[in-house]
Formats: sequence, structure tokens, C-alpha cells
Amino acid sequence: MNKQSVKDLGDEQLRGRRALVRVDFNVPLDASGHVGDDTRIRAALPTIELLLSRGARVILLSHLGRPKGKPESKYSLEPVSRRLADLLPGKRVCFVPSTDSDEAMKATHDEGTDVLLLENTRFLGGEETNDERLARSLAQLGDVFVNDAFGSAHRAHASTEGVARCLHPAVAGLLMEKELEYLGRAIANPQRPFVAVLGGAKISGKIDVIEQMLPKVDQMIIGGAMACTFFRAMGLETGKSLVEEDRVEMAKQLLSRAGDKLVLPSDARVAKSLDDPGSATDVQRDAIPADQAMFDIGPESAARFRALLESAKTVIWNGPMGVFETKPFHEGTEAVARGMEQATKNGCTTVVGGGDSAAAVTEMGLDTAMSHVSTGGGASLEFLEGRELPGVTALDDRA
Ligand code: ADP
Ligand code: MG
Repeated sequence: MNKQSVKDLGDEQLRGRRALVRVDFNVPLDASGHVGDDTRIRAALPTIELLLSRGARVILLSHLGRPKGKPESKYSLEPVSRRLADLLPGKRVCFVPSTDSDEAMKATHDEGTDVLLLENTRFLGGEETNDERLARSLAQLGDVFVNDAFGSAHRAHASTEGVARCLHPAVAGLLMEKELEYLGRAIANPQRPFVAVLGGAKISGKIDVIEQMLPKVDQMIIGGAMACTFFRAMGLETGKSLVEEDRVEMAKQLLSRAGDKLVLPSDARVAKSLDDPGSATDVQRDAIPADQAMFDIGPESAARFRALLESAKTVIWNGPMGVFETKPFHEGTEAVARGMEQATKNGCTTVVGGGDSAAAVTEMGLDTAMSHVSTGGGASLEFLEGRELPGVTALDDRA
């Protein structure tokens, strides 16, 4: 990675100093306002613990949900601070119900606190507009800046990009570093065979990834509803499947350009509707009934994809193979996850990006069986598209 990380900071930059850390604590809260899945909080612990162990006090900034630039109690980070305190036994964790305020500033200087969480950055009008004055003001809250919010790095906001320009050193946290290393290494220097697996609902959301990755990969497996748009381009009947009519022409061009790099399903699991999963049957791809829709790849394709993945050396996966939320349309997605599990055991680097794919893998209990499951759906997609992540660009370069 060409950006400095928290590991590059010297003791004199940390001991007794305030480390301002942008984290991604955008966690789900249940109806009673308690933290549901705390994965994102736990993902930030290594950076927090490293900073504490090196004598810094930690000041945390995060957003939660989508408040529109003003306080909304249901998006308060206060419940998150309680979970954080549970996860950091023996540490003095405090919460301040404001962010850009005298109260917050004073709290950053309180030596009785180890970790201070400030209120939701999106309660501030200037956050999403990346207001210069706000960025400068936030920069006063710390002596060094650490960005560990990979999931927010594709947005130039005051607490991600703006503050990094105003407060130096500005470095990547451990989670950010890990994300960039895994995604970056796969793209820049992959061990081969390098296989990409793309799926999900829409080809339109992934077209830039396809274009960017196609020249780099040895094979590109296509599943999900995306496959149906390719079927249509091949002149096949797709019944009631989700097809993006305005992308059929593009799919045709990709087919002729990509040759045998593109690996499409040979069979499909179809049903009359999602409400009637009991009626699901498996058919060859040229036999999709006109009154039915493809909701998953078929078993033949699942086995073929799985075998392909098991002999790969680098795999990047973005987008489920079917409507995995509804059984029995989860089996294609599970086969891909199992293939990647085996590949990882064989020494392959396996990376899962994409919010729904990550959720599917976690649900199957296979998240720890992968080399890396990205915490940032949108950010990982933009990274794979070859776009710059402004929250990363603004950090200090390595000498
Ligand atoms: P990710 O978040 O991993 O990038 P996407 O958001 O692109 O993935 O797509 C995920 C969604 O695609 C899931 O909700 C899944 O139900 C849907 N999907 C997958 N295959 C199909 C299909 N054949 N028909 C309709 N929807 C599908
Ligand atoms: Mg998604």
C-alpha cells in the first residue's frame, strides 16, 4: 500500500496524544434502540487497541444511518458507545452527545478518558457537503488522524476526506489497510488462475466492474439475474426472469469480446414466482418456461462453478448467484461459497466484496473461511471499478 498506516506512526506522535479516528459504526439498531449485529464495531477494535497500547487517547468519529444534516435521536451513537464499552473491558469509554462543539473539544482533553465516541457526524450540516470550515473544526479534535472507515472511503465527506487534508499525520487504520491490501493485491498482482465471480440483481450496477476486471482475470463467472440478460443476448427464452432490456446490446458485445473468459450458467433453477418456492424445478438454460423466472443457477452450473473455484489461486466474488434469501434459491450461492472455502484451504486468496454477498457468506458461517470479507459494499465495488477512493487519496503517502 502506498499510504501510511497507523503502524508507521512513531511513539512521539502517539504517546499522550489524541488520535482522531474515523470509524464505520454504521450498525443496525433494533426496535428498542440496541445494537444488533456488532461486526463493524469489532472490526475497528484492532486499531483502537493498537493506539491505546501505544499511549494515545482515542477520539472516534462515525456516521450512523441517514439523518439529513440535523440531530435525530433514533440515529444517536449513544447505544453504540455502550456496546463499545462492553467490548473494551477495563477501558474508560465515554460518549459526548455532540461532535463539533466546545463540549466535544473539552472532552478530547480529558485525561480520565481512554476512548471518546462523539455523536453522529451526519447530524452536522457540513458533513456530506464536505464543508471546509467543518473539516478544519473537526481537525482540532485530534493530534493525528486515522481513517479506519473503509466503508465510507468512497465518499468525500468532512469527516473522511476533508479532515484528512487538515490534520497531519493522516494515516490508514488497520482495517482500512487490510481492505486495501487484499483488494489491491488481487487486482494489481494476482496469483493465477484469477477468477472473478459476479452476480446479483442488476448488470447495470456491475458493468464498470466487468469492464475493469475482464482484461485482468482468467475467467469471469456470471450468475444472478445478470446471467438472464446474457441469456437474452444469446437469443434464449428468459420467461419472467429479471432482464435489463436496455443492457442486452451491451451483453451481446461483451459475449463477442470476452470469448471463453465469460463462464455462464448452463442450467437454471426456475419457479412461477418467489412466493411459490415449492414449485421450483431445474431446467437447461435453453428450456426456461415462458411463464417462469430464473431465481438461481441450476445444480449442474453450481457444481461446475465450484470445481472451477477450487482450482483457482485468486478469487474475487461480488454478488450472489440467486435469490439466496429464499430457499431453495440459495444453493448456487452456497456452492460458490463452498468452492471458495476449499480454495482458501488450498492456498488461494479469496475476497468477498458486496454487501449482500458478505451477508450470505456470514449467514452460512463461512466468513472466517475466506481470506477476506470486505466490510464496505459500495466502497469495494468502486475500488474494483478502478475508481479513486477520496477518503484514501487524502491520506499521507508513504515516503
Ligand atoms: P451485492 O450487495 O453482494 O453487491 P447485489 O446487491 O448486486 O449484491 O445483488 C443482491 C441481490 O440480487 C439479492 O437481494 C438477490 O436476491 C438478488 N438476485 C440474485 N439473483 C437473482 C435473480 N436470479 N433474480 C432476481 N434477483 C436476484
Ligand atoms: Mg447489495
